[in-house]
Amino acid sequence: MSDPPLPLEGLHAVVTGAGRGIGAATARRLAEMGAAVTLVGRSVEPLRELAFELANDHGRLFHAAPADVTDTAQVESAFAEAREVMGPVAILVNNAGAVESTPFLKLTEERWRALVDVNLTSAFLCTQRALPDMVEHGWGRVINVASVAGVTGIPYVSAYVAAKHGLVGLSRSLALEVAKKGVTVNAVCPGYVDTALVAGSVAALAEMTGRKGAELLDAMISQNPSGRLLTPEEVASSIAWLCHPDQAMVTGQAIVIGG
Ligand code: NAD
Repeated sequence: MSDPPLPLEGLHAVVTGAGRGIGAATARRLAEMGAAVTLVGRSVEPLRELAFELANDHGRLFHAAPADVTDTAQVESAFAEAREVMGPVAILVNNAGAVESTPFLKLTEERWRALVDVNLTSAFLCTQRALPDMVEHGWGRVINVASVAGVTGIPYVSAYVAAKHGLVGLSRSLALEVAKKGVTVNAVCPGYVDTALVAGSVAALAEMTGRKGAELLDAMISQNPSGRLLTPEEVASSIAWLCHPDQAMVTGQAIVIGG
């Protein structure tokens, strides 16, 4: 007797910022559930390595599509190529993001715009290119990787916090627009996760404040009620849950994965 089909078999998922961290863990998880995954990110090498690893593990094609998600022309060509190679997009995980710690009065307009671009406008650009396929086929999943910073304030990261709140707002609003079209739109809001992003924040804060990195990391960890950093796989698992066909009625939510 043949195995039953996997829940996402035959569906094309696009994951941005897929080269490492939460994005790479999500791509692996969606691949295990049967999805054909396009990996989007700035550096081609990690994307190709992951595509190769997934193809080896699952015996089917995975596609690396290098693009800076803040650049409209690059997003346009990455999605056009992804659709040509892998078919219409059914799942989009807007995961690419970046954080910088700066006191508000030292935050330049240029860095404000850059942080809003990478954490918010990127989701607008990618979703505009993926949503028409979902609406046409009457099925889709958009998952925006926000943060606890999308539902609460945090000092010294005002641009990041503002952008992530914006991403939660975008998710709620778009969810209502497409609720009758078989498409769900949700935000996930992780606490502190064990990735390069947290390591970078600790290093930047240590330089800014003169405090020890280990102390700063402990202070971050203490904000996760579990008393430890989350793993990228734990976040990927919640994203995968939202992508499952069974979760057709979960939409417009900002799900805190706070530990
Ligand atoms: P990470 O730095 O390991 O991964 C971020 C990925 O996004 C990297 O691959 C990076 O190259 C990519 N990226 C950044 N700017 C890009 C651009 N302009 N175009 C294309 N790709 C770009 O960090 P992570 O922790 O895995 O972060 C993933 C997401 O999770 C981010 O949106 C982040 O804000 C969010 N998040 C992280 C944490 C945490 O504690 N690590 C907590 C809450 C939310």
